[in-house]
Amino acid sequence: MAERYRDLNSYLRERFGCRVQKITLDAGLTCPNRDGTKGTGGCIYCNGRGSGTGAHGRGLTIREQIEKGSAAVARRYGAERFIAYFQSFSNTYAPVARLRALYEEAAAAPGVVALFIGTRPDCVSEPVLDLLAEFAQRLLVWVEYGLQSANEATLAAIGRGHGLDAFLAATAATRARGIPVCAHIILGLPGEGREDARQTARVLAAAGVEGVKIHSLYVVRGTALEALYRRGGYRPLKREEYARWAADVIERLPQGVVIQRLTGDPHPAELVAPAWCRDKAAVLAAIRGELERRDTRQGIFADAEAD
Ligand code: SF4
Repeated sequence: MAERYRDLNSYLRERFGCRVQKITLDAGLTCPNRDGTKGTGGCIYCNGRGSGTGAHGRGLTIREQIEKGSAAVARRYGAERFIAYFQSFSNTYAPVARLRALYEEAAAAPGVVALFIGTRPDCVSEPVLDLLAEFAQRLLVWVEYGLQSANEATLAAIGRGHGLDAFLAATAATRARGIPVCAHIILGLPGEGREDARQTARVLAAAGVEGVKIHSLYVVRGTALEALYRRGGYRPLKREEYARWAADVIERLPQGVVIQRLTGDPHPAELVAPAWCRDKAAVLAAIRGELERRDTRQGIFADAEAD
């Protein structure tokens, strides 16, 4: 069976002709939704680690994180080319001079062929995008924006501190510089149904994003979502539900879009629910099984339904 969606490894092989492995970095930055700037108290599912590895807190520089990470993935996968992935918090939320130094440290490390920059869509200025465009002359650069949902009511309810307009503006400004955009979305946010997931996919298709990361919402300790869950105000998706919703999204994303991720990455010690999301292989198998069952593939509804 040909693959029913375009995954990241296939894209990287097409582009570089070899295995390229991602190394997750923690630059020690923060986020305007956690430092009080946005006045929301943070996203309801965020516990303050900001998906962070904590490496910066352990005193590791970007260069040291890359050396450590590249040695590990070289041993495990035989990879010799690496993506420096600035993942933790908002990696454009600092003065341009500091960002330049951080990106340069990563770009100059042996074997690094790409910079992937994770951030919020309300956290990029024109000078920062110009800086990224400079790096894009030397190596592959992607910007990853957290959107989570295209539904404004959901964005307000989860305390995102930005609306859809910020995402659309940031995406357009980034793509105008020739830099591909990956949107992060979450399925199963409080109050959302299957049609919300489909609508978010339509909005992403219309915005022209080059990549998407999808995961189901999970509850971690110390969050507002945990309190909501414990008082019965939130029910996580079941694995088979998530597989159906994810398949709906895949069907509505154009064929060229790189589906960079379909699973979450909860810290095992922090996960409250649902337990199934720890088993990534089973989640991927469920999504593939759903696509098989429908005998469908990525993009089958992309043109017909694009907004
Ligand atoms: S934008 Fe990210 S780091 Fe900031 S509060 Fe939301 S989830 Fe946490």
